[in-house]
Amino acid sequence: MQETNKPQNEGSGQQRSEQEMSAEIKGQEILIAKLRLAEERSAMLAAIVDSSDDAIISKDLNGFVTSWNAAAERIFGYSAAEMIGTSITKLIPTDRTEEESLILSKLRRGERVQYFHTKRLTKSGALIDVSLTISPVKDQKGSIIGVSKIARDITDLIEAEKQSAMLSAIVSYSDDAIISKDLNSIVTSWNNAAERIFGYTAAEMIGQSIVKLIPPDRLQEEPNIIARLKSGQRVDHFETKRLTKYGKLLDVSLTISPVMDLTGRIIGISKIARDITDKKQEEQRKNDFIAIVSHELKTPLTSMRSYIQLALSKAVKGSDNFTENLLKRAETQTGKMTTLIQDFLNLSRLEEGKMSLNLSAFYLAELMEEVLGDILTLTTSHQINYEPCAEVSITADREKIGQVLTNLLGNAIKYSPEGSAIIVRCMLNKESVQFSVIDQGYGIPVADQARLFERFYRVDTERQHHVSGFGIGLYLVSEIIKLHGGEIKVQSELGKGSAFSFVLPAGPE
Ligand code: ADP
Repeated sequence: MQETNKPQNEGSGQQRSEQEMSAEIKGQEILIAKLRLAEERSAMLAAIVDSSDDAIISKDLNGFVTSWNAAAERIFGYSAAEMIGTSITKLIPTDRTEEESLILSKLRRGERVQYFHTKRLTKSGALIDVSLTISPVKDQKGSIIGVSKIARDITDLIEAEKQSAMLSAIVSYSDDAIISKDLNSIVTSWNNAAERIFGYTAAEMIGQSIVKLIPPDRLQEEPNIIARLKSGQRVDHFETKRLTKYGKLLDVSLTISPVMDLTGRIIGISKIARDITDKKQEEQRKNDFIAIVSHELKTPLTSMRSYIQLALSKAVKGSDNFTENLLKRAETQTGKMTTLIQDFLNLSRLEEGKMSLNLSAFYLAELMEEVLGDILTLTTSHQINYEPCAEVSITADREKIGQVLTNLLGNAIKYSPEGSAIIVRCMLNKESVQFSVIDQGYGIPVADQARLFERFYRVDTERQHHVSGFGIGLYLVSEIIKLHGGEIKVQSELGKGSAFSFVLPAGPE
């Protein structure tokens, strides 16, 4: 250096020329700029290495660690101070020790090792899944002087992969058809059960519209379902019919949910379809049976009731108290049977979707008095207070409203102690009339109140065990009131009593 810095042109004067000096200064400035650039670049690289989510490690050809970034510290638990200068084999599980020499020999041949999935040990002894990318570090002459290693913790990824493999096994072995489709109703996946139930293979259905399965008279269901899903709702146990490849109509129960991306945007639809044809046929047989039996029982029961009434009036005339008493009891029992049979007939009509209203305009007070008259001749155990409303005519199904009142009053008697009072109240509002049946009975636990109107639902309390019933009365009451555009409501307190009420529009239509 000193040699080259010596002034070359000493003969021409003691001082270096100005030209020479400015060239030298320029040369130094360029050098400084280059050094600064290199420094900046290296600072930037260091920052990248430091802030990386992946462990970035370098080691020499003997496997001794020469650098260790923050992510390496986070992933493996060792600090840089603990690792630099020690062997990387610390991280390698005993059953994988040969991996290191294999990797090094590859690197010596100048090859890279990319996305190598393996397991490594952390400081706490936990085994983690990692993906390694390892490259040789070369000097300016191209000789390998070390190794750089990028390790990504893929434990969560592997776990997610396992879960997804498990889910896809569940989907393929499910007995229910599991189908996914996009928002245009195009099928995107189709499992084995879908193939078995609907007859189409996955190849035949994927990419095709689901509409292929919908019978022509139910095509509107698809846009309705999609609209419900778009508004964030699920469709649960929707019973409908679908067509198989061979044109057979199946009864299916569908559960349909939106599939969302991480931002909550709906990107598709998943559908679980269960073939309920057998269940439906079974229900149908049961319904037919109930309908036939109830119908067949109704006629002889009606004649029995008239014979009992005839005999009763004879006993009354003949002042035969003993027979009169027995016949009254017989009449009470036939009355109960008539209500029960009527309930069963209505239940099967409802199930068939065949319950229709036979509307007529009639006077409410008249119907109330009829029902009360019937009940009062049969029941003396309770004190029934009737609070009539102003004379009003309503348009409704007279027989069915009569049944509603009979059921509500029957329940008030059944579920309250002998001697207690029952109020039957009618209130006329502007354009509607409200009925209430209020008892001072056992009351209904709050938890049961919401389910009272379900088919076959009975409250399971000690007190009720000796009260017979099928749990269909309130279901029918609620369905009949709904068919009339009204709603039945209950208010009840345990030990105090219950009030059932409903509202119907007043006046002829
Ligand atoms: P059932 O009386 O045949 O059991 P319902 O459908 O008429 O069937 O009534 C369903 C259930 O509701 C009854 O089992 C009873 O537990 C309860 N319930 C109905 N009415 C009353 C009432 N007035 N007081 C207390 N519990 C009642």
